Amino acid sequence: MPMNVQPIATLDDRINQIRLSTAEIVNREILPNENRLWAFRRGGKFAEKDKQAARELREDIKAKVKQAGLWAPHLPEEYGGCDLSFLEHAYMNEVLAYSMGAASLFGVVAPNSGNQKILLKYGTEEQRQKWLVPLTEGKLESGFSMTEPNAAGSDPRAIQTTARKEGDEWVINGHKWFTSNGIRADFLIVMCRTEDPDGPAERNGKMTQIIVPTDTPGVDIVRAVEVWGQASDHCEIIYDNVRVPADNQLGQTGSGHAAAQDRLGAGRVYHCMNSIGQMWRAFDLMVERAASREVHGGLLETKQFIQGFIADSYIDIQSARLMTIHCAEKMDSGLDARTEISAIKIYVPQVYQQVVDRAIQVWGAAGVSGDLPLAGMYQGARTLRLADGPDEVHKILIAKNVLKTYHAGETWDFGH
Ligand SMILES: Cc1cc2nc3c(=O)[nH]c(=O)nc-3n(C[C@H](O)[C@H](O)[C@H](O)COP(=O)(O)OP(=O)(O)OC[C@H]3O[C@@H](n4cnc5c(N)ncnc54)[C@H](O)[C@@H]3O)c2cc1C
Repeated sequence: MPMNVQPIATLDDRINQIRLSTAEIVNREILPNENRLWAFRRGGKFAEKDKQAARELREDIKAKVKQAGLWAPHLPEEYGGCDLSFLEHAYMNEVLAYSMGAASLFGVVAPNSGNQKILLKYGTEEQRQKWLVPLTEGKLESGFSMTEPNAAGSDPRAIQTTARKEGDEWVINGHKWFTSNGIRADFLIVMCRTEDPDGPAERNGKMTQIIVPTDTPGVDIVRAVEVWGQASDHCEIIYDNVRVPADNQLGQTGSGHAAAQDRLGAGRVYHCMNSIGQMWRAFDLMVERAASREVHGGLLETKQFIQGFIADSYIDIQSARLMTIHCAEKMDSGLDARTEISAIKIYVPQVYQQVVDRAIQVWGAAGVSGDLPLAGMYQGARTLRLADGPDEVHKILIAKNVLKTYHAGETWDFGH
């Protein structure tokens, strides 16, 4: 069934136009072809000619996306994107995420997209030409290498990987894991604790992001960590006396932590809008099944348990959506939205997991099969509760912000 996207009266024309054009491509080109486009990833017997046909189909859709002026919404036109504003991109994501994987056909593929934004903001023009442009053209692949097996990812200042300045080179030593896309990456942006004898004293010992080509001697991709019982591209990597030119540093020495936060701030709103789009898909699948499956002498939709699933899911999606839009609007108007960002980062993946869980229950065995996107959504929702800051870290931040207000003699401004 196609998704039902109509103009929203309170939104400006451009946002509505982006939502409608995105929905048109997803409905017409992607949804009817979902199994052909991605089925080969699940392995099994998939003939080479079918893979080739899927590749051609993807290229054909990408060309249509470019023609519609919707390619790479996160990048400015001079770097090959369509330069959407923050709100335009957020609303686009809700529509795009209705089909899992559709974003890649619109030029948004993690972790490349996050790296593109970092290169754009922190890279020199030379670095942009060398790494960003080929990344956008699809000639290079990349990874972001921050998390370590022996230091808590929830505490980014605990990072043990070091970069030592020797002449005009950085020498990197460390152990990372969960570097997504590590298998295919041509270069990695590595988060290091920098020891720069020439750097200003107050900056020493802080985090710096450094570009490391994967074919540099000393980069050892040990393995791809199995995730949810399946092969993945999230890699464990040892950096053993890896030498790269000092020019590969991104931004100033010590700017790595701020760059990581930049990557996550707006990204969390985009991720939540993705989750909401996927919830709408799970909801549509659930209601469609409830209205057509007969059990014990009646359609599922006539059973109160199932009606409860429908009502609870509707409430969950609408509340998550309004919270996310409120946060996005606050950010867009330049107000401090750190509490709201943490709140949606906790709440949206939790209800996403619940909504998909109910849709799986309604579908029975088919719900966990590879014939429907629900199993992948369920795993994705659960994983989101760990990635980009686990729930507990964000709860601590919310409480801290709220308590600070009260300690300053004020109560929480509940209009904002
Ligand atoms: C599929 C996937 C892809 C990923 N891709 C990347 C990638 O491309 N690059 C990259 O660098 N990393 C990546 N990561 C890693 C991810 O960012 C980390 O897993 C995340 O930051 C959490 O770090 P950790 O796993 O070390 O958990 P830890 O920091 O060890 O935390 C474990 C648990 O401790 C609890 N906890 C933490 N702090 C507190 C506290 N203050 N109070 C109470 N409880 C607390 C939380 O429940 C938390 O889940 C990926 C992870 C996954 C699952």
